[in-house]
Amino acid sequence: MEHFDIVIIGSGLGGSAAAKVLQETGRSILVIERGDFIKQEKENWDVNEVAVKHRYDSTEKWIDGQGQEFSPRAYYNVGGSTKFYGGTTLRFRESDFQSRAVGEGRTFGWPFGYSELAPWYDKAEKLLEVHGRVGEDPTEPPRTEFPYPPLEHEPILAELAGKLSAQGLHPIHLPIAVDQGGKGKCIKGSPCDGFPCLYRAKGDAENRILRPMLLKKHANLTLWTNTFVDRLDTDESGTKVTSAHVVREGRAEQVTAGVFIVAAGAVNSAALLLRSADSKHPTGLANSSGQVGRNFMSHNNTVLLALSPLRKNTTKFQKTLTIHDFYGLGTFQCRGKVQPEMLQSKNDPVLRVFRKFIAARSVDFWVMSEDLPHPENRVTVDESGRIHLARKPTNHKAHLQLIRKARSVLRRAGLPICFVDERGIRAIQHQCGTVRFGTDPKTSVLDPWCRTHDVENLYVMDASFFPSSAAVNPALTVLAQTLRAAEHLKAHLTAGVPSAK
Ligand SMILES: Cc1cc2nc3c(=O)[nH]c(=O)nc-3n(C[C@H](O)[C@H](O)[C@H](O)COP(=O)(O)OP(=O)(O)OC[C@H]3O[C@@H](n4cnc5c(N)ncnc54)[C@H](O)[C@@H]3O)c2cc1C
Repeated sequence: MEHFDIVIIGSGLGGSAAAKVLQETGRSILVIERGDFIKQEKENWDVNEVAVKHRYDSTEKWIDGQGQEFSPRAYYNVGGSTKFYGGTTLRFRESDFQSRAVGEGRTFGWPFGYSELAPWYDKAEKLLEVHGRVGEDPTEPPRTEFPYPPLEHEPILAELAGKLSAQGLHPIHLPIAVDQGGKGKCIKGSPCDGFPCLYRAKGDAENRILRPMLLKKHANLTLWTNTFVDRLDTDESGTKVTSAHVVREGRAEQVTAGVFIVAAGAVNSAALLLRSADSKHPTGLANSSGQVGRNFMSHNNTVLLALSPLRKNTTKFQKTLTIHDFYGLGTFQCRGKVQPEMLQSKNDPVLRVFRKFIAARSVDFWVMSEDLPHPENRVTVDESGRIHLARKPTNHKAHLQLIRKARSVLRRAGLPICFVDERGIRAIQHQCGTVRFGTDPKTSVLDPWCRTHDVENLYVMDASFFPSSAAVNPALTVLAQTLRAAEHLKAHLTAGVPSAK
């Protein structure tokens, strides 16, 4: 049995950021990661290896709401999902923090407004080295300058931006955490989305947060890889976590600590709390509200390929443009350039058969709409600890309307042919919401500083805390709130106060 002052479960975006802030307390910190480092190897950018053979995906199978087994495309490795994220780093809009009617449903309000998170967004953008330009976006909340200038559009996108502007729209330079321009490391060798970066040019949690700390060899920071946290135990009163049961390189062990921070990602954090049910917490740890695992969200997401048969798209780095003019319905933003191999398994026979022709010409987008919190969209675990994810679509009409809008403005901008590929309800890339925060312990699991209402030394610092998902990518918001919550915990630990309420 080993003891640390602070144990952090998960080395993804939330876990790495919590470790960075808390390392400065001088307390001993253990980060536990179930996966290993992603090797820098030529396969990082091999489309067949990554997108067809799924070389880096977890082999785990989950069960959906109909009892069917599926492969969730989860990523278990140092740096978590950010090793594979697209680097798009957008802030939520001011209205996203309020409870609002959206399409057929309603969002759940945040315990604070945008202005509370704004300074933490500034810090998050500096940490990930985000490029962007202030003042182009009609929905942009008040903000400071970006740390780095925007990535310039390559010719086809510059022309597209002009044609969209001519329609009265506001094409924006996509805020993105990729080291390009000047002496930047990026050589535009992969689409980013779904691919680890061979040159460490992507602003992911390992490259920008954890690795720099590990290189400094801080005496108080320890990382265990290939170590799965199976459950957490509490003391007799049930108000404090005492230890974590782990399986480390195949061996069962226990670790004790004064503070536990769960940062396993929205599905796995909820699953860990549910697996940790005991006589004091019969429906799961910190679950007196009954909300643990509920309100799973992950955006309505569709890939849209727009093309003119007469023109090839020779763009090397496509992730430079986004449109927020239809924000009530969602956004559509350029994604990494689609390669023919990525289209070979598609249901649409035209996409499959003509994949080379299409991929050589298409300009490729993510069309993204808000997913709404619903109590029955939820993570549960069975007796064997296996993950079940039940999910029904929400806000889908708005998403279809947004796809129609996107097609229409792209057609008028000279891209008359569109293919759409809806990601569907098994897509978990933007997972969030399963351990939501709020001020009322009856309707939320965490307080506004990401401490559980029920257990005084237990925190959840990852995408689980989201009460609503907005219609922009989640990572920057995960990071901003984690920095805010971890600084709060640090202040209390430094002042000698054992817990952060
Ligand atoms: C393909 C892809 C593209 C994306 N693109 C974007 C984008 O462009 N912009 C954006 O904003 N967001 C994007 N995202 C989402 C973004 O990556 C996540 O929002 C973010 O990483 C969430 O951080 P997290 O800390 O909640 O989880 P993660 O970063 O996933 O970290 C969770 C960590 O916990 C570990 N873990 C899980 N269970 C256990 C356990 N029981 N014991 C020990 N360790 C455990 C996991 O292995 C993982 O390392 C993308 C995601 C994917 C998958």
